[in-house]
Amino acid sequence: MTDRLYYADAYCRDFSATITRVNRRDGRTIVVLDRTAFYPTSGGQPFDIGTLVARPFEGRDGGPERPALPVVDVIDDDDGSVAHVLDDAEPPAGAEPAVGQTVHGTIDWARRFDHMQQHTGQHVLSAAVDRLFGVRTVSFHLGKEASTIDLARELSRDEIAAAETEANRVISQNLCVSIRFVSAEDAAALPLRKESQREGTLRLIEIDGFDLSACGGTHVERTGSIGVIATGAVERFKGGQRLEFFCGGRALDRFRSMRDTIAGAVRLLSVLPGEVPGAIDRLLIDVRDQQRTVTALKQDLASYRAEEMAAAAEPSAAGRLVLRVVEGDANGLRSLASAVVSRPGFIVVLVSASRPALVVAARSQDASMPAHDVVKALTATFGGRGGGRPELAQAGGLDGTPEEILAAARAAVS
Ligand SMILES: [Zn+2]
Repeated sequence: MTDRLYYADAYCRDFSATITRVNRRDGRTIVVLDRTAFYPTSGGQPFDIGTLVARPFEGRDGGPERPALPVVDVIDDDDGSVAHVLDDAEPPAGAEPAVGQTVHGTIDWARRFDHMQQHTGQHVLSAAVDRLFGVRTVSFHLGKEASTIDLARELSRDEIAAAETEANRVISQNLCVSIRFVSAEDAAALPLRKESQREGTLRLIEIDGFDLSACGGTHVERTGSIGVIATGAVERFKGGQRLEFFCGGRALDRFRSMRDTIAGAVRLLSVLPGEVPGAIDRLLIDVRDQQRTVTALKQDLASYRAEEMAAAAEPSAAGRLVLRVVEGDANGLRSLASAVVSRPGFIVVLVSASRPALVVAARSQDASMPAHDVVKALTATFGGRGGGRPELAQAGGLDGTPEEILAAARAAVS
């Protein structure tokens, strides 16, 4: 069993302890101490990181300070001990941790304090939702960027706004957040927000006059230290709702990134911030109108080009031949070829000007040349992939100049 210093004092950020176990697990070094301020991942809150430094024996002078061993993960082991996982790299010579050594531990306070703001903020937000609407929080996840609570039912936008306002009112009241230890029997008589399944001694987090919850996490000592709570995106989740939120420094970071995003949009659109959605809406309508116009113009152009190609076709034994290099994508080549062969008596092979090249072959209903055989002959010579029907076939990825491909097409159709 490790004595968990954070249980009684979440503000303990460095401490001395004695190493009670060192072992290797999954290729990494694990150190167990008799006491620790390092929080292991549990209850939705992620682990602390930091360093362990072995100290020379007390009362004995000299000996250089040992190098710091970075703690990269902290695990709550089944036997009640807290496992400190060291960096993958082998510890430097002379710094190997050993049982009986005294170490000085320091946790990364910026990371931990952020976790404390999010976790106490979660208690406040969950309690606000519970008190206002009787909706329970099913689970909590403290993520790298955003944190979420999963609620038993969906809240409306107005309900979320009301809970957010209530949570921020509790922050501005700067209520005391205290830690209590009670037996499971005593806890049963207390108005806990959520009954606990745990047995033995329970650790309770009390927000003075507002919330009482069983929790093993680390919390700020007054609600004012949360700073602010801002809710984010919502999504349906397991018959309820997943609600994103940001507390303290994260809310400020979020505000800054949204401010910069809006400023960028405002510059591009030359409108006021409140006019951005309307301006984007108008742009989208314009784009759709223009797409319709472009489609109609392309069709017109294709029919004119088809007429011009048909007029310039070469007579041959198999039919009237159209062999052309054309700028365009597969759709453009196909609609052009189709427009030509809508007339009787035509055989068409179009090659894109790009390299690798696209090829489309087509024939009129009354012509006999199988278009897919032409495409097959071309891919056999120039590579690429394709296929189709006797009336229409296409291929892409042909490696040859348009002139070489057209010459081969001429040979294939005649
Ligand atoms: Zn909690």
